Amino acid sequence: MKTIEQIAAELQGYDPQALSAAAVNDFLSRLVEPVTEVEQVGIFDALGRVLASDVVSPVSVPPHDNSAMDGYAFDGAALQPGAPLTLTLAGTAFAGKAWAGQAQAGQCVKVMTGAIMPAGLDTVLPLEFAKTSGEQVTIPPGLLQRGDNRRHCGEDLMQGSVALPRGERLGPAALGLLASLGLPTVTVVRRLRVAYFSTGDEILSLGEAPREGAVYDSNRYTVYGLLTRLGIEVLDMGVVRDDPAQLEAAFTRAAREADAIITSGGVSVGEADYTKAMMKKLAGDVGGVAFWRIAMRPGRPMAVGRIAKNGPATAPHSPAQPVTGEFEAKLAPSLSEISEVSYEKSSTILFGLPGNPVAVMVTFLAFVRPALLQMMGSHAPPLPRLRARSAQALRKKPGRTEYQRGTVVTTADGTLEVRTTGNQGSGVLSSMVQGNGLVVLHHDQGNVAAGEEVDVMMFDGAI
Ligand code: AMP
Ligand code: MG
Repeated sequence: MKTIEQIAAELQGYDPQALSAAAVNDFLSRLVEPVTEVEQVGIFDALGRVLASDVVSPVSVPPHDNSAMDGYAFDGAALQPGAPLTLTLAGTAFAGKAWAGQAQAGQCVKVMTGAIMPAGLDTVLPLEFAKTSGEQVTIPPGLLQRGDNRRHCGEDLMQGSVALPRGERLGPAALGLLASLGLPTVTVVRRLRVAYFSTGDEILSLGEAPREGAVYDSNRYTVYGLLTRLGIEVLDMGVVRDDPAQLEAAFTRAAREADAIITSGGVSVGEADYTKAMMKKLAGDVGGVAFWRIAMRPGRPMAVGRIAKNGPATAPHSPAQPVTGEFEAKLAPSLSEISEVSYEKSSTILFGLPGNPVAVMVTFLAFVRPALLQMMGSHAPPLPRLRARSAQALRKKPGRTEYQRGTVVTTADGTLEVRTTGNQGSGVLSSMVQGNGLVVLHHDQGNVAAGEEVDVMMFDGAI
């Protein structure tokens, strides 16, 4: 387990005041470690979970050569180029059981889709192309090649081969695939648990009356959604005031109960320094906390660190700031309801995100999401990026990565075009609702002309 200082020393040219987005990913991939505890779950509980070990196929799928069509099975060796082939019907093979007979030369067997191929027959004429007369079946010339419409034994999965690799996040297709192997349960990495809270004296919880200068907390809800989509167990800790005692209690509790903590607010330059001082104090000697200025927009300030699970000797072990507001109390799981889990690690990873709502989402997608996936043991590739033509000119200063919210559409000529969603302020959360992706304008990139291609990181569906 490496400390922040050790990782910093590993990285060439590490400057916490001017990190590139790529350097942040690199740093975090060295900081986080995959969870090692595993559990056995039934298929219905396996959606979104990460496989803890390779699933080796106990059988071949399909288990026999079988027909891909309703039609007539025959020996494809009898096909002659340019000539029709007439065969005599010898019987019918249904799906689910082998045909008991033995086809002779010049014979064919009627087969249903999925029926085991009768011995010696390797080609299927689809029913709709057959010309029949009594027991005679004629195959028109030039229609088929030997082996057509036959599925091979094991063509999907061969017995003894790796059907699903360790690290696979199980999606709907994987659930079906496990079932096709006859496996009712599967061994997965235990669910990651992430605690999160919002900070700020100006942040209102739902149910609180509006007051001048205050804004409703949106970050906890987007963070909740982002984490839940990843199949993570969430621990919602409400809004915590900019108050040292409350912050310390919240951090201590979150560190004890979760694998990672996500906070929003309190890391920017103008902030009262409580949060930063607290993070530093709680890090103790297990890892440390770094405060970064990332060369990006939005999302420049961010804190990252390791917090000791047991807290410093002086940390109060009182419950975290209770969730405020009438609705909140109903929505948030009560801390006491969450079962104690034993964690083998002595520290918790901290992601201290900026306060602005768009900055929270962008830093989550760009940095936190890949780090959490790594902690979950997933080998999922990063969010796909596509190239789209920019519908308009974009202003961009070289020297930082910009993530502009945009909407990608397929135009009438079948090509992709992206149009940004107006006001790109880092507090304009509606831009994340309107857009379906982030236009990624890279570190060294300058202005973009209308019609030029840009990279887009799609988030529609992925988040
Ligand atoms: P901070 O990083 O704490 O300085 O916050 C930056 C901006 O984001 C301020 O305008 C805050 O009011 C706003 N902000 C911080 N936290 C939240 C939140 N949980 N929900 C909505 N806006 C927030
Ligand atoms: Mg604040």
